[in-house]
Amino acid sequence: MTVMTGADMIERDSLFIDGGWRASAAGRMLDVHGAATGKVLGRVPDGTAADVDLAVAAARRAFPTWSGAPLEERLGLLARVETLMAERVEDLARLISSEVGTPIKVSRLVQVGLPIRVLATYRELLPTLPIEERIGDSLVVREPIGVVAAITAWNYSLQQVVGKVGAALATGCTVVVKPSEVAPLSAFVFADLMAEAGFPPGVFNLLSGTAASVGEPLVAHPGVDMIHFTGSTAAGRRIGAAAAQTVKRVALELGGKSANIILDDADLAQAVKVGVANCFTNSGQTCTAWTRMLVPRDRLGEVEDLVMARLQGYRAGDPLEPSTNFGPLGSEAQQSRVREHIERALAEGARLLAGGTQPPPGAADGYFVAPTVFTDVRPDMGIAREEVFGPVLAIIPYGDEDEAVEIANASIYGLAGAVWSADPARAQRVARRLRTGQVDINGSWFNPLAPFGGYRQSGTGRELGVHGLLEFYELKSLQLGPSD
Ligand code: NAD
Repeated sequence: MTVMTGADMIERDSLFIDGGWRASAAGRMLDVHGAATGKVLGRVPDGTAADVDLAVAAARRAFPTWSGAPLEERLGLLARVETLMAERVEDLARLISSEVGTPIKVSRLVQVGLPIRVLATYRELLPTLPIEERIGDSLVVREPIGVVAAITAWNYSLQQVVGKVGAALATGCTVVVKPSEVAPLSAFVFADLMAEAGFPPGVFNLLSGTAASVGEPLVAHPGVDMIHFTGSTAAGRRIGAAAAQTVKRVALELGGKSANIILDDADLAQAVKVGVANCFTNSGQTCTAWTRMLVPRDRLGEVEDLVMARLQGYRAGDPLEPSTNFGPLGSEAQQSRVREHIERALAEGARLLAGGTQPPPGAADGYFVAPTVFTDVRPDMGIAREEVFGPVLAIIPYGDEDEAVEIANASIYGLAGAVWSADPARAQRVARRLRTGQVDINGSWFNPLAPFGGYRQSGTGRELGVHGLLEFYELKSLQLGPSD
């Protein structure tokens, strides 16, 4: 139930468990802050291990019937949610712009538009999945894994919740979702829509709370069969270790430090334009952001001029203003972390081309950091290696193609990347040498049907499309014996 306590205040006083809104066991609340104001925007319950027990028990009870329900029934309910979300695009977009700080146009298109599209892809793909196959004398069948705990980050708050919940429910699993404590409010609206759509009790459960109050009890819970996590690599390591105690399946979508390789024959202006836009989208709080721009050493000066020209186009301000195209960071803690990265880079001797620790002009309140660019960065510097998760670009010069590939691959991460060349075959050759989950060649659109996920410490498992859906199944071999 929503309680409105003031013009700008959203108070959600209960958790969604077993088909209804219930008060949390402890009665503690968490404040949610507006990213552009720093003021309290809403409150949500800080759940407890007892709430986790209730939600997991409800999801377990619901699993046999839900997993056995006809596919049309499951997909029909998901279609209903898709329609309800489409009717609420503006409300959801404004809410996410307020709590995350994403400029409103990007919120409409990406923060809300993408999850609606993703739900549609699940509905389209489900009937085509290879659920059963005959292998020799065996019939190999896929069965939904069971109860999924979905734990998400704040930056694309609704997409991460819907991407996981939609896939789990479409495949016949039941789900307990814990959104980020930084930006949980859109998940509550989503839960309202799930309730309105009429899913059976226990199929979908929402618990708000922190890593300690709800996240860790969920990961440790013996009644959870799979953890589907999006967040930092540091948390991913802890979750992997904790989930191993009960040998759960774990899908981890973690951090990145993606390289944008601009080859010597590329259209420099276009590559820099798209590269800058990619790095600074959502103020750099995008796991796939191309935060390392690798450029031929003899073109460094030209690239710097082009980057500076692109920065002139950023207007920081209220994310709800249609003219704003650069918003704040999601939280005060994130703002401090990003400033620390910038200070360390300066202390290490990295050359600052633009920005710095100060907020951009016209943005005194809220969690702003100006678009920041370091140039002539050495690959061994911290700013070339560590994920900042903020609006900070490192321009790294290289000598030849082999060196560019070597620098790109010299990372603990491997989530995304880009290659630019006038010769598409050359670009593809270089892209194939990159040890990373996705590579955009000469700029391209996000494809929600393609598998999404990372190599190395960017994660394990894949999300989205057929490959993402197949993560939610167990395999069973029915040994049928000789057929003749
Ligand atoms: P975070 O790891 O701090 O928190 C993410 C979620 O996990 C939150 O809900 C948090 O409460 C919970 N959590 C943290 N530690 C936990 C633990 N030990 N047990 C259980 N739950 C725990 O991440 P964040 O700061 O919210 O998000 C930013 C990070 O997410 C960045 O590193 C970014 O690259 C990454 N990210 C990755 C993807 C991807 O798809 N690969 C997408 C978006 C963000």
